[in-house]
Amino acid sequence: MKHLLSIEDLDRATIERICDRAASFATGADREIKKVPALRGHTVLNLFYEASTRTRSSFELAAKRLSADVVNFAASGSSVEKGESLKDTVLTLSAHRPDAIVIRTPWAGSAELISGWTDAAIVNAGDGKHEHPTQALLDVYTLRHRVGDLAGAKIWIVGDVLHSRVARSNILAFQKMGAEVTVCGPPTLIPRGIEAMGCEVRYTLDDLPDADVVYALRMQNERMDQAWIPSLREYATVYQINDRRLLPRQVLMHPGPVNRGVELSGGVVDSPQAAILEQVQAGVVVRMAVLYEVLAGARASAPATPEPQPA
Ligand code: ASP
Repeated sequence: MKHLLSIEDLDRATIERICDRAASFATGADREIKKVPALRGHTVLNLFYEASTRTRSSFELAAKRLSADVVNFAASGSSVEKGESLKDTVLTLSAHRPDAIVIRTPWAGSAELISGWTDAAIVNAGDGKHEHPTQALLDVYTLRHRVGDLAGAKIWIVGDVLHSRVARSNILAFQKMGAEVTVCGPPTLIPRGIEAMGCEVRYTLDDLPDADVVYALRMQNERMDQAWIPSLREYATVYQINDRRLLPRQVLMHPGPVNRGVELSGGVVDSPQAAILEQVQAGVVVRMAVLYEVLAGARASAPATPEPQPA
């Protein structure tokens, strides 16, 4: 695999290989020395044009745990503020010869676009409303631990599906793993024609008890140029996942950042059903597996279980 641009490009076997490799990296996460020398001598450039807490920190940690050199670039404070274009920024930074560029932007399709401008492997860390493939992979990994085989599992994705890149990537990934996906939210926040992706659509939570997994989405206010719902209060009344609506047997997921009191009540965020912090933990080992896959995967035939050693 040269790049990771979209879940569309992955088949089930590749998703499983990445999760297996992440699991093998996870066995090293509790050791005193967490680093492995797998990517020693490689350079990973993190290029972030949008805010990020989890994704950015976990890509940085992932690259460092693999002993790669890491350069972090945030658009704010850079020449982007002087008007430098995406293309010129990528060409300039490519002159440092990074082996991989991890990119997040507000523009759909940007990860694919830059893959034509540089020899580096490109990893899409979120391109506008389009996709967030590493989120989907870490969610599959998390669910393999919580639920086991996803074949036949019923997963409800609830909330602002229209503006969510996580929803798109996760619908694809969960279905590739054999799950049955339902999307639910106010009609204005469900993209027209989404059934063509093979998922069911619901506009109320009446059948939520059927779900094995409830995946709540954040209201993407930064991508809204008009009022899509009457008010957040009204949204919360009808769609909030709370103690009344979440069953003890259901697994609750959210990609973060959570708006407590909007899409989730504080009670369910802190409940044993919530896998939200497990998702964050999975982020590091899954992103290690992704970087390994694009930079060293072609050389490796089996999951890597290298012994840790000082790098
Ligand atoms: N962190 C995820 C993303 O970047 C989800 C979100 O922001 O709502 O898409």
